[in-house]
Amino acid sequence: MKINDLKKVAVIGGGLMGRQIALNTAIYGVDTYVADANPEILPVIKEWEETYLEGRINKGKLTAEQVATTKQHFHIANSIEEAVTDADLVIEAIIENKEIKQEFFTNLNKLVRKDTIIATNSSFLYSSMFEDCVDNPTRLANLHFFNPALVMKLTEVVQGPQTSDETVQFLLDFSRKTGKDPVWVKKEIEGFIANRILRAVANEALYLVEEGVATPEEIDIAAEKGLNYPMGPFKLMDLTGVDLSYFNLKRVYDETGEKRAGFDLLKKKYEANEWGRKTGKGWYEYP
Ligand code: NAD
Repeated sequence: MKINDLKKVAVIGGGLMGRQIALNTAIYGVDTYVADANPEILPVIKEWEETYLEGRINKGKLTAEQVATTKQHFHIANSIEEAVTDADLVIEAIIENKEIKQEFFTNLNKLVRKDTIIATNSSFLYSSMFEDCVDNPTRLANLHFFNPALVMKLTEVVQGPQTSDETVQFLLDFSRKTGKDPVWVKKEIEGFIANRILRAVANEALYLVEEGVATPEEIDIAAEKGLNYPMGPFKLMDLTGVDLSYFNLKRVYDETGEKRAGFDLLKKKYEANEWGRKTGKGWYEYP
C-alpha cells in the first residue's frame, strides 16, 4: 500500500482519541469513517464535530468552505463493518485492554482486505501482541497519537518485529499527509519515546520533592527558566492528571514489584482526590 493509493480510513473507537484522530484525518481531505461499539456515543460524536468545526470558523482557523469539505469527508458509521469495508487503513482506538483488542483484531481480519494497513493507537500494548489475530502481520504497527490529537503534532510509528518497512513508510507518509510530524520507533519498547522522556523527567522531579530538596513550584521554575521547558513537570502532571501518573507507577509496581520515586507521594495525592486540574487541586490549586 502506497500513500497515493489511500482513499478510505476507518477509525474504530470514537472516544477521546478516536474521534479526534478521525476528524483530523477528514480535515486533511481523506475520507474517514469512525465507528464505536457503543451506539449511544454516535450522536455525541456528531454534536462534538459540529461544535468543534463551528469553533474553528469563529476563531478564523478554518474557512466555512474548508468546514463544508471536512464534513463531506467525515462519516460516522453505524457499524464497524460499514467503517472498515474497503478501508485502506484502519486505526484502532478502543479501550486499553489486551483481550478485548485481540478479539477486535480477530474479527477485523475477516472484514478487511489482505493489504489493508492496520494500526493500533495503544500507548502500552504492542502491535506484535496482535500478530496472531491477522493474516499478513507485516501490515500491523502502532501509530501512537498524543492527546489532544487534533492539536499535538507528534505521532510515533512503532515497528514491531513483524512490521514491514513498507508499512512503516506508509504510516510516516500518512502522518505527514494529515499534518503530523512522525518519528520512527524502530523497536517495541515500553512507553515508546515521548512518554519515556516524560516519565524520566517526572521521576527525577518527584525524587527531588521526596528528598526535601525543593518544592514542586521551585522545580517547575528550574525546568522553565533554566531548561526552557514550556511547562514544569508538576504543572504538566496537573494538566495530564496526577491519577494517570499514579496509575503508571502502580502498573510498574504491580508488574515488577519496583517502587519508583514518588510512588507513595502520588498514592497519597490520588487517595486525597488531588488529581490536578480535573479535581481543582493537584500540585497547585485551581479555584
Ligand atoms: P476512551 O475510553 O475515551 O474511548 C474508547 C472507545 O472505544 C469508547 O468509546 C468505547 O465505547 C469504544 N470501544 C470499546 N470497546 C470497543 C470495541 N470492541 N469495538 C469498538 N469500540 C469499542 O479511550 P481513549 O482515551 O480514546 O483511548 C483509546 C486508545 O488510545 C487506548 O488504546 C489508549 O491507550 C490510546 N491512547 C490514549 C491516549 C489518551 O491520552 N487518552 C493517548 C494516546 C493513546
